[in-house]
Amino acid sequence: MILILFGPPGAGKGTQGSRIVEACGVPKISTGEIFRDLAAAKTELGLTAKSYWSTGKLVPDEIVVGLVKERIAKADCAKGFILDGFPRTVSQAETFDIMLSQSGNKLDGVIDFEANVDELVRRLSGRRTCDNCGATFHIITLPPKVDGLCDYCGSELIQRNDDNPESIRTRLKEYSSKTEPVINYYVSNGLLHRVDADRLPDVVFNEVLELLKTVNCGASKEALVG
Ligand code: ADP
Ligand code: ZN
Repeated sequence: MILILFGPPGAGKGTQGSRIVEACGVPKISTGEIFRDLAAAKTELGLTAKSYWSTGKLVPDEIVVGLVKERIAKADCAKGFILDGFPRTVSQAETFDIMLSQSGNKLDGVIDFEANVDELVRRLSGRRTCDNCGATFHIITLPPKVDGLCDYCGSELIQRNDDNPESIRTRLKEYSSKTEPVINYYVSNGLLHRVDADRLPDVVFNEVLELLKTVNCGASKEALVG
């Protein structure tokens, strides 16, 4: 199964993606996470990319495409994978199609998580992320049990570099000018499924499970019954 999770920043792709991983047993590839890891390791590529993403700008296509190509060639992707945060431009979508056809694979579906802008800003500005395991919390709607610490691994919660008001504004602008056009690309080949992501995570996930029944996801029956 090859699935793309699509939608604006804060729509819940990461949260839903982790749940899909549990249900389907294929890895999730988050380009944002790859960039944050590379930046933490202070590689040259990582620092170049950070000069874009920390201000909310998209990282140049050449950099992103190279990293994705390398990642999906790894053994754990042989049975399929879920992409979170890629493709984010029409050019990336076109290149991805070429990559897939060269390896004899095909895309099974694109889930578009849609949420209104006020809700996105609210989610992003209150978001806290675990520095160690990547779990996310929200200071008001999903606070950790112990202030400032991750419920799952006990590590420190941080506010992402790009979760500040100015970067959030830039990310939303980048989304509407460069990423939203990708929707039409997938509508035209019949692969796009829209989900209303303004709702609570459990409600959204139930709808995602319904959708997964229609793509060849490899999930166990129980997981899909929910
Ligand atoms: P979010 O969806 O919450 O904005 P991500 O963690 O997916 O965050 O990505 C963080 C940042 O990494 C993006 O704002 C962008 O700068 C960069 N990025 C991630 N994926 C891509 C991509 N496919 N193309 C260009 N830039 C990307
Ligand atoms: Zn954690």
